[in-house]
Amino acid sequence: MLVSAKDMLTKAKEGKYAVGQFNINNLEWTKAVLLTAQELNSPVILGVSEGAGKYMCGYKTVVGMVNGMLEELQITVPVALHLDHGSYEGALKCIEAGFSSVMFDGSHYAIDENIAKTKELIAIAGAKGISVEAEVGSIGGEEDGVVGAGEVADPNECKQIADLGVTMLAAGIGNIHGKYPANWGGLNFEVLAKIQELTGTMPLVLHGGTGIPEDMIQQAISLGVSKINVNTECQLSFADATRKYIEAGKDQQGKGFDPRKLLAPGFEAIKATVKEKMELFGSVGKA
Ligand SMILES: [Zn+2]
Repeated sequence: MLVSAKDMLTKAKEGKYAVGQFNINNLEWTKAVLLTAQELNSPVILGVSEGAGKYMCGYKTVVGMVNGMLEELQITVPVALHLDHGSYEGALKCIEAGFSSVMFDGSHYAIDENIAKTKELIAIAGAKGISVEAEVGSIGGEEDGVVGAGEVADPNECKQIADLGVTMLAAGIGNIHGKYPANWGGLNFEVLAKIQELTGTMPLVLHGGTGIPEDMIQQAISLGVSKINVNTECQLSFADATRKYIEAGKDQQGKGFDPRKLLAPGFEAIKATVKEKMELFGSVGKA
């Protein structure tokens, strides 16, 4: 059964580790993430962007697929199904469809409007035991066509949003989505420390986990980051493994064209990436 992200993140914050959010795109992705979490006895959050939700034929299809897998694959570790960077309307749809967690990304609104909309969603989601992630200070790079400038959040605004009763808070600290440019300035730990100081036990979320050096990830966790989003890295490892299979001509040997064979190396590559991240985040054995 799907669970809200609240308990797993409260435990992570206390235990000084982070739970990975891995974005899913299809059946293979979902199966790879769930099986790895089960094998490593780790809690996990499945992230679904609005674009990926549309691609997978809508939120109800996603809920049906994930719930089916939890049962058929006998997944017993805590799993949250979470809307990533949701609009207000998207969050409402996911709550109705059976998601156990939603992110409302109101970072592009003025702070007052972000607060008003976040408040409404907390009331609606809270009544159903669904966790809510809010965002302050847009996160750079591109997420489903939404391009952010990579701002650094105002710690006081973070405190204002945290006090509304959100479950977890994403704050821009120089992190960006997608691949990091060579001249990237790194994470702003001073601001992160200030946010943590003002928001206390609130689990903080680090978006754009792909390509952040390991020591920075560990420092971020020590400063209160309890959820780290990974998306691009699984896409890169999937694409890389699939390309190698095709380039080696394996799809032209025997029944190598069978989708179950063709997609297997990419599936294994996603599993390896998820495992690597769970080990780095410290969530192994924490289910
Ligand atoms: Zn993000």
